[in-house]
Amino acid sequence: MNPHYTLVARRAAHRCEYCHAPEVIFNFPFEVEHIIPLSKAGEDNKANLALACRACNVHKGDWLTGLDEQTRSDSRLFNPRGDNWEEHFMLDLETGTIHGLTAIGRASVWRLRMNKPMQVTARLRWIQLGFFI
Ligand SMILES: [Zn+2]
Repeated sequence: MNPHYTLVARRAAHRCEYCHAPEVIFNFPFEVEHIIPLSKAGEDNKANLALACRACNVHKGDWLTGLDEQTRSDSRLFNPRGDNWEEHFMLDLETGTIHGLTAIGRASVWRLRMNKPMQVTARLRWIQLGFFI
């Protein structure tokens, strides 16, 4: 396990800092990911670390940008250390989808594939069970 896991998980309240998936209902700890990947000169310190579910971390990979489908242009991805989630995203409790409110939010939803059918189905269950929000 990443040596920074305890600090990063506590700071994130044990939720994925991108899609807000609740770690408590998973059977494996979430991942400590580098917001700026090490391969892109990101540093291995707590200011560059975030807690991410497997799905978000896999899709984020080494990317720094995503497509804002509204403007058809690239935008940087959401940075959990410097950006406010509620400013960039909105959860639709009825459909279980996450809407990007800004170019950063939309690019992040697109890049991390936050609204793939399996994601939305799971999120709806979490909402119904009271594990989301
Ligand atoms: Zn996630």
